Amino acid sequence: MRTFALLFFLVALSNALPVLAADTWVIPAAKIYPAPNAEPIEDGVVLVRAGRITYVGKRESAKIPKSAKTSSCVGGVLTAGFQNSHVHFIEPRWEGAAHKTAAELEQSLQDMLTRYGFTTVFDTASDQANTVALRARVEKGEIRGPRIFTVGLALFPPDGIPSYINDLPPPVLARFHLPRNAEEAKAAVRANIAHGADGTKLFLHTSPRQGVIRRMSADIARAAVEETHAQGKLVMAHPTSLEAMRLALDVGVDILVHTTLGEEASWDAATLARMKAGHQSVIPTFKLWIYELKKEEVPTSVVDLLVDATFRQLESFIAVQGQVLFGTDVGYMHDYDPTDEYVLMAKAGMSQAQILESLTTAPAARWKEDKFHGQIAKGYAADLVMLAADPSEDVRNFANVQCVFRAGTPIYSSPQSSSPKSSS
Ligand SMILES: [Zn+2]
Repeated sequence: MRTFALLFFLVALSNALPVLAADTWVIPAAKIYPAPNAEPIEDGVVLVRAGRITYVGKRESAKIPKSAKTSSCVGGVLTAGFQNSHVHFIEPRWEGAAHKTAAELEQSLQDMLTRYGFTTVFDTASDQANTVALRARVEKGEIRGPRIFTVGLALFPPDGIPSYINDLPPPVLARFHLPRNAEEAKAAVRANIAHGADGTKLFLHTSPRQGVIRRMSADIARAAVEETHAQGKLVMAHPTSLEAMRLALDVGVDILVHTTLGEEASWDAATLARMKAGHQSVIPTFKLWIYELKKEEVPTSVVDLLVDATFRQLESFIAVQGQVLFGTDVGYMHDYDPTDEYVLMAKAGMSQAQILESLTTAPAARWKEDKFHGQIAKGYAADLVMLAADPSEDVRNFANVQCVFRAGTPIYSSPQSSSPKSSS
C-alpha cells in the first residue's frame, strides 16, 4: 500500500514539473477524436512540442524523436480540450483571488472545471477585478487552470438586479452596471473592456422582486452591443422570455446563454430564421433547469414537461443549423458535474459528434480561434482531454476524465489515472 502511495506521489510530482519547451512529448491513446466529424484514429499518438501539436496519427506511422518523453497519462480516448461557455466565478471560494493560496485556488479550479476536461472557460458575469486577478495568476503559471475569458461586470436594467443573485456581497452588487441611457451603456462596456473583459453580458428582462419585471430599453441594449462589436467582442444575453429573445435579436446579441424555460410557445420559424441569419449561438443549460425547478420543489412530472419544451427549442434550433455552445452555469449552480448535461443534450437529439462540437470546434469558431483551438491537428494548441472511456458508447463518458493538458502541460490528473481503463 505504501509503495503504491509513493508511486502515486511520484506520478503527481512528475505531472507538476514544468514542461520544457524544447522537449517533445508523446501522448499515446487507444483512440483519438481529432475533430467531431473526423474519422477517429485507433491506437494513435499525439506529439507535442513547445505547447503545440506537431503530429497526430497512427502510432505505427509516427516519427518519434529518440529524446522524446512519454506522458504518464496514456491509453484512453483523446479529444481536444473542452470549453465551458457559461461559468461564473461568484462563489465565496473565489473571493480575494489575488491573495488566496495557489493550492486553494487550484483545488477550486479542479473541483469546478479542470477535472471535467475544461481547458477554456467563459465567465458570463462576475466580480471582474477578482476574476481578472485569478486569470493573471493562472497565466503566470502559478496555478494550474484553464484559459479564462470573462464578460466582467454585467449590465442590468435600472433597479433590475435579479432576485436570484441579490445575495452576492453588497460591494460586488454596487459595482454592477445599471445604465440609464445609451451613453452610460457605452461607458460601461468601455470600462469593462479596458479592465480586461472579453465581451459584454446583458440582462435584458429581470425580476428584482416578486411580481416586478424590469426591462432594458432597446436603445440602451443596442448601444451596448454596438460598442462591444466596435471593440471586436461578442455580446451574451439571457433569453428569459420570448419577448426578451426578440429584443436580443433586434439589438444584435450574439449568444443566448440559456434556452427559455417556462414558455408555452416554441421558438417559431420566423424567430429561428432570424437567429440563424443573425449568427446567434445558444447555450442550452438543461441541467440548470432541473436544478432550479427542484429547488422550487416543482413536481417531477411538471419538471419533465417544462424541460421537454426546452429540448424542442434546441431541436428546432439545430434543425436550422444553429450553433450550439456547451455551457452549464456552474459557479451559479453549485452542482459542478456536467454528466447530466451530456445526457440531457443527447435526450434533446444531439449526437455524440454534435456534443463534442459544442465543446470544441463550435466555441473555437465562435471566438475566432479555430485556426489554433478546438481540434487535435498539427500546429494547434496542445489543449487535450484524455477520457477513460469512449463517449460514442455513452455520452456520460465525456465527464469521465483521466487527465487534461493545457498547451502540452498537465493541468489535471485523475487519482485513478495510473491505471487507465480500456476504451472498449
Ligand atoms: Zn449564468
